[in-house]
Amino acid sequence: MAAAQLQDLTRIIEHHWGYRSFRPLQERAMRAVLDRRDSLVVLPTGGGKSLCYQAPAMAQAGTTVVASPLISLMKDQVDSLQACGVPAVQIDSSLSADEKFAREIDVQQGAVKLLFVSPERLVLPDFGNMLRRAGVKTFAIDEAHCISHWGHDFRPEYRQLRRIKEWFPDATVHGYTATATEQVRNDICQQLGLKNPEVLVGSFDRPNLAYRVLPRYDLENQVAEVLDRHKGEAGIIYCIRRKDVNELTETLNSMGYKSLGYHAGLSPDERKRVQEAFKSETCDLIVATVAFGMGIDRSNIRFVLHTGMPKSIEHYQQETGRAGRDGLEAECVLLHSGSDAMTWKFIMEKSASEPGVDASFLPNALKHLNDMDRYSRGAVCRHRALVEYFGQRYEAPSCMACDLCLGDREPVPEATVIAQKILSCVARVKERFGVNHVVSVLRGENGDKLKQQGHDQLSTYGLLKGESKDDVRDWVHQLLGQGLLVQTGSEYPVLGLNDASWEVMKKQRTAKLFQTPRKRKEKETSRSGVEKTSWEGVDRGLFDRLREVRRELAADRGLPPYLVFSDTTLRDLARRRPSTLPAMRAVYGIGDKKLEEWGHEFLKEIRAYCDDMDLSMDTVVDSEPAPPPRRAAVSEPTGMKAVAEDLFRDNAAVEDVMHQTTRARSTVMGWLADFIRREHPASISAWVSDDVYARVAAAAKQVGMERLKPIFEALEGKIPYDEIRLVVSHLT
Ligand code: ADP
Ligand code: ZN
Repeated sequence: MAAAQLQDLTRIIEHHWGYRSFRPLQERAMRAVLDRRDSLVVLPTGGGKSLCYQAPAMAQAGTTVVASPLISLMKDQVDSLQACGVPAVQIDSSLSADEKFAREIDVQQGAVKLLFVSPERLVLPDFGNMLRRAGVKTFAIDEAHCISHWGHDFRPEYRQLRRIKEWFPDATVHGYTATATEQVRNDICQQLGLKNPEVLVGSFDRPNLAYRVLPRYDLENQVAEVLDRHKGEAGIIYCIRRKDVNELTETLNSMGYKSLGYHAGLSPDERKRVQEAFKSETCDLIVATVAFGMGIDRSNIRFVLHTGMPKSIEHYQQETGRAGRDGLEAECVLLHSGSDAMTWKFIMEKSASEPGVDASFLPNALKHLNDMDRYSRGAVCRHRALVEYFGQRYEAPSCMACDLCLGDREPVPEATVIAQKILSCVARVKERFGVNHVVSVLRGENGDKLKQQGHDQLSTYGLLKGESKDDVRDWVHQLLGQGLLVQTGSEYPVLGLNDASWEVMKKQRTAKLFQTPRKRKEKETSRSGVEKTSWEGVDRGLFDRLREVRRELAADRGLPPYLVFSDTTLRDLARRRPSTLPAMRAVYGIGDKKLEEWGHEFLKEIRAYCDDMDLSMDTVVDSEPAPPPRRAAVSEPTGMKAVAEDLFRDNAAVEDVMHQTTRARSTVMGWLADFIRREHPASISAWVSDDVYARVAAAAKQVGMERLKPIFEALEGKIPYDEIRLVVSHLT
């Protein structure tokens, strides 16, 4: 690709989308389109697949046709493109004949850069002729795995897409998917008839997702704990059965968490209403079965909570993948219990035994279930476990974004010695027994079966006497999860050893075990590295106000709010606090069209807020808030702010802190207000006299604390904003 073309792409992305760099593999993916070479691009959810065909469509002549599986997904994409000033339309069955005709004319006249259609329509002969007359030469296939039997979402109508290559021999075809396996990849290339395709496979890791896996011991309170961590944020709670959805929705609502339930048993109208409420941000909390999700593109989902174990790692990856599509931090919590696997097994076996059902899926399904169970109980970094499951290497020693790496769970002392005891017991029973039996032997129990086998005579009998059954069982599963022990036998799974087991027994290798969390209060949940940096410098109050503005503007236009601006953009606005339109143009995700359309409204709000709160504007920010790198800085506050906070803890005067940190008064006062809000010291008399405190508090009681200005005015301007702000920070 010529340098000029690359420059062109960069300019287009900046102008329309307000992005200043490519995400990994995007440039190569776009190059394939412009070089007119077929391609298959595999990137995880949120990896930025759409831009890979959207930007080149703007850089080349003619119309790019996009096949997409759901009308709702198409509509979102079209709305979002139009909001960026990209001429995109969709042609679907909801249009009248006249509308359809008008759009086809637009296509023929070259007024449309991106045309979205369903696969069924794309292969209609008349439609194909229309496209041929329009000289279409580029096709993008979204969710391309739907063409493959091996994928998790096969759609027969996708099969016909192979005709594209027959009907348009000169056109290039480009597939996009998040599906990982090589088998599916090869199948897609073959089914679509791609010629010498450029196959690009990105990393499957989602560094902005923090994974936590916990045994389920007190469902409602565990759920409430997660919800409290995410007040005012969007999340999905997945349940295994419809009945659980209904019960949990009711309980949560009675506890004051406003939520809506969703499952396939609801009427189509009801389902639509729930989806719309979630998209338009009138409801932020959905309790659902896995029926919820397809077609939901809301980018600012901040957590996904599984109240039970999904039936495969593929499902888990897909469901958790809905969190944090905007690249900002999000949390994925899985609450599991040993009984979940049994529940699934029961459901699977039941459906395999129904009349007319081909039961051949069962062994494969049970294997997937077992893999998921192992993941849930494992003691390996969650990011590593997931990435390795999908056949990629994970290099980082710690992800800084999972319960294990963040140190949420206590390590078991002498883990390797315990592992040796467990492994040698498996050896002594000759690798012929399952988990329960091995646990009984280790705990020195008195069962009949155990005595019949003479296992009470083994040297390993009672080696872990005194440990609870749950703990020992959990440790066995953790060893399985680390690959230090294996489970074989399909009828009845027995524990077996591998090379790694012998290495542990010969002291050539160590093992890691973690305590099982129980009802006792867990260590406080740590925040992931990503979360700490993505909020840095952001005024949360302003962020919330901007969300409100966004919601109103979106409602006026009938758009989902995240299509106006993403959360990343709102945070960057609340961080930089631009005072003019040109300054606003430097904010992440604001291209020319959006600036023109919405810039003023946001500017007005930012100005009013900064005025009220006496906040500085046009803050200088070092870098883009693009998704932070893995293992982003862990400590917050960082740098001088941390120095300042240490001084505040010693009640240092503002002047001293200014001197020691060489920062201006306004900066230090801002830090102090943050410090007070977060750490809530018992008294702030080091910085505000008791008399002033009492007067501000009294005024705040009268006029409220939403804004500082009314308080300032109620006190007749006698008390400076700085001090008012400190008191308000302390009161909230
Ligand atoms: P996918 O289809 O792979 O799940 P999307 O295409 O929806 O991902 O992109 C995820 C998010 O990342 C979107 O909000 C998109 O606008 C944003 N994005 C894509 N490419 C870039 C980029 N180069 N710089 C910044 N943001 C980007
Ligand atoms: Zn980890």
